Amino acid sequence: MSNKPVQTDVIIIGASASGLMCAIEAGKRGRRVIVLDHSNKAGKKILMSGGGRCNFTNVDVDPDNFISHNPHFCKSALSRYTQWDFIALVNEYQIPYHERDLGKLFCDDSAKDILNMLLAECNKAKVKVQLNCDIKNIIKDDDESFVIDASSGQYRAVSLVIASGGLSIPKMCASPLGYKVAEQFGHHIWPTSPGLVPFTLQPHDKEKLETLSGISVACDVSNERIHFKENILFTHRGLSGPAILQISSYWQPGETIFINLLPDLDVVELLTARQALQPNIKLKTLLSEVLPKRLLPSLFDQAALDKPLQELSSIRISEIARQLQQWKIKPGGTEGYRTAEVTLGGVDCDELSSKTMQSNKVAGLYFIGEVVDVTGWLGGYNFQWAWSSGWCAGQVV
Ligand SMILES: Cc1cc2nc3c(=O)[nH]c(=O)nc-3n(C[C@H](O)[C@H](O)[C@H](O)COP(=O)(O)OP(=O)(O)OC[C@H]3O[C@@H](n4cnc5c(N)ncnc54)[C@H](O)[C@@H]3O)c2cc1C
Repeated sequence: MSNKPVQTDVIIIGASASGLMCAIEAGKRGRRVIVLDHSNKAGKKILMSGGGRCNFTNVDVDPDNFISHNPHFCKSALSRYTQWDFIALVNEYQIPYHERDLGKLFCDDSAKDILNMLLAECNKAKVKVQLNCDIKNIIKDDDESFVIDASSGQYRAVSLVIASGGLSIPKMCASPLGYKVAEQFGHHIWPTSPGLVPFTLQPHDKEKLETLSGISVACDVSNERIHFKENILFTHRGLSGPAILQISSYWQPGETIFINLLPDLDVVELLTARQALQPNIKLKTLLSEVLPKRLLPSLFDQAALDKPLQELSSIRISEIARQLQQWKIKPGGTEGYRTAEVTLGGVDCDELSSKTMQSNKVAGLYFIGEVVDVTGWLGGYNFQWAWSSGWCAGQVV
C-alpha cells in the first residue's frame, strides 16, 4: 500500500441509495468522486428492500410523510428532486414497475434493476467505488481538506459526504459511523431509535395472540397523535404488517395503541340490523362474515361468541363494537434494529443547509440520507429522501 494519499475532489462514505445518487450527480459535473464502503457489495439495503422488489418511491410525496424534529427541513430537497425525476430515470432505463396500494411504486422484477441502474450511472460519471474499505480515522487538515485513513489507503478531498445510513439491520453493514463523524465535528445528534419495526407483545397478550400467526387484517391503527389505515399481520413474535410498522415510528415505550379491526363498518348498525333480521344466529357466525374466524376467540370468550344476537342488549352491542373498533394493545416493545427498516433521529437538521445538506459548522462536510434526522413513512418515502438529499448535495460538492 502506497503512503501517498489518493487526492480527489469528493469522498462519499456509503455506497448505497443516497451515496450513489450524490456520486452520480457530482460525477456528472466533472468532479472526481470516490465512494468508500466497508461492505463487500454496494447497495445491500436496496437489494433487500420491498421484499426484493424495492419500493423505490411513491406517486404522492408530501413533507407530512416524513418525521423530523424540524418538519420543514425536507421540503426543499423533496421539491428540487422529486419522485417524478427518479421515475424519469427509471423509465430511461426501461425498468418495469407497477403501482401498489397508496401510491407505492415497486419493480416488477427485482431490486437489482434499481441498483444496476445507479451503478451504470456511476460508471458513466466516472465514479470510483471502493468496497471492503474500513474507515479508521477522519480529520480536516490545515489546507481545509478532509483526510481519511482507511484500510484501502489514505484519501484526501475538499468535500466529504457522509451517506453511511442508520443503525437498522447491523447484518447488512449498518454502523454508527455517520453519527460519530457528526459528533467529532461538533454536530448535535437527536437520539436514535428503531422505526418501521414490528412490535413484541407483553406475555399475557403474546400467549393469547400467538395462535393467530399468519392472519392479516385491514385495520386502522392509531395512537393519540396519528392513525394509519393499512393491514396488520399477527406473527409468532407479535404484531407486524404495514399499519403496525407505520405506527411504530410514532410509538413511545409504554404507550397503548388502538386497533380498529373494522374501520369501514358501523358495527352497532350491523349488529342491530342483523338482530332484527336473524335473531337466532350466534355472534360468532355474524362476526366471521367480516373477520377471520380464528381471530374471534382472542377478542371474546366462548360464551359471548355463542350467544344468539337476540340476547344482546344495546349496551352489550356498543361494548362489542368498542372491543372491535378500539381494541387496546400495549406493546411490550419493538423487535429493535435487528428488523427495523429505518432509524429515527440522527444528525440535527438545524445544523445543515436544507438546500445543499452541507454542515453549517464545517465547510465541505455534508450529511445525506438516513443518517440525517429525516425518516420517511413506509411506502417508498425513505428512498425518495435518499435520492432527493443525495441529489442536492451532488449539485454542490
Ligand atoms: C429490510 C428493509 C427494507 C426496506 N425497504 C424499503 C423500501 O422498499 N422503500 C424505501 O423507501 N425504503 C426502504 N427501506 C429503507 C431504505 O433502505 C433506507 O432508508 C435507505 O437505504 C437509506 O439510504 P442511505 O444511503 O442513507 O443508507 P444505506 O442504504 O443504509 O447505506 C449506507 C451505506 O453505508 C455503508 N456504511 C455504513 N457504515 C459504514 C462504515 N463504518 N464504513 C464504510 N461504509 C459504511 C453501508 O455498508 C451502506 O452501503 C428498507 C430498509 C430495510 C432495512
